[in-house]
Amino acid sequence: MIDLSDLSVVDGHCHPLLPDPWNVSADDFVDLFTEARPRSMAAHVSSTGYFRRALRALARRLDTEATIEAVLERRRQDGGEAARRVFAEGRIDALLTDTGYPPHAMSLDAMRGILPCAIHEIFRIETCAERLLGRGLAYEAFADAFEDELRAAARRVVGFKSIIAYRSGLAIRPWPPAEAAAAYRNALGRLQAGGSARLIDKPLLDTLVEIALHVCRDTGRPLQLHSGFGDPDIDLPHANPALLRPVLEDPRWASVRLVILHMSYPYFRDAAFMASVWPQIFVDLSLAPVFLGPGVVGPLVEMLSLAPSSKLLYGSDVSAVPELFGLCAEWTRASLGEALEFLSARDGCTSAEAREIGRQILSRNAIELYSLPA
Ligand SMILES: [Zn+2]
Repeated sequence: MIDLSDLSVVDGHCHPLLPDPWNVSADDFVDLFTEARPRSMAAHVSSTGYFRRALRALARRLDTEATIEAVLERRRQDGGEAARRVFAEGRIDALLTDTGYPPHAMSLDAMRGILPCAIHEIFRIETCAERLLGRGLAYEAFADAFEDELRAAARRVVGFKSIIAYRSGLAIRPWPPAEAAAAYRNALGRLQAGGSARLIDKPLLDTLVEIALHVCRDTGRPLQLHSGFGDPDIDLPHANPALLRPVLEDPRWASVRLVILHMSYPYFRDAAFMASVWPQIFVDLSLAPVFLGPGVVGPLVEMLSLAPSSKLLYGSDVSAVPELFGLCAEWTRASLGEALEFLSARDGCTSAEAREIGRQILSRNAIELYSLPA
């Protein structure tokens, strides 16, 4: 076996903890194991591999019965001290945290106070734009303020993130300023008529990503892009990373490193291909390892077979409670070890190379890509 269990991880894509991660209701706990709308899959979540595997693991760790009630009661008694232990045992060196979700979360400073690892910020661009919309500025002033916020953020954050795949899709293209301005006025009009600040207008969203690409090019910060599966807000065909080709072929953005998130599952073959031909594409492996469980080994074998291992990065995409960060690290090390074992048994790599590839994916690539302190 290729054993990676001693290697530490840099979690390249995750979200903050809940404000009080030790007091979780049974309903909220069940919702942690599904991307479905809250409560909508309550009858089925306990029939998923992710839930069963996690509940068993938590019960083992807490030395209690594998029932929701027993696990929640025991972890309530355990409280804050357990967070340090979970992160230390999980060998988690650093988190790159997208603060755009969950809506009510622990601050990064509070997380720094309780977790024994580095906490870095990833800045979600649409959240910033939706906040600025409330100022009711003219379009030009809005676009300038947005760019200023991104440039200011670039001094403290290690990367940016866009969720445009959830809104108007990844087929991002340039728009005449008049069309972006008209789209902005539509969005502002909806807000001022009492509607939501949620941006859905393609000419505007594409233009915001272009501004972000500009800032990323000037500051050397990578841009993370949601791709592939997620919650039911996603219109999956529009989240295929292959749609990014016009951005990748645009010489203005050739030097901007793009990290496509979640293995782009189910488009992991597209993602592997893209990483193999466009130097600026990197692939984050989050989300699929927890939801697919041991079934992620097959996709990992394919990814590792085509994509350069220097472009694959560990991530969890978990949030809310510390234990999920630990479980994801443990499970991904095991699945990655199995995938590398498959390859080394067939002369795809030597076992020494397999360890080295594991080290690259679990931490080293992220340290280099995001210029983290080693
Ligand atoms: Zn995420």
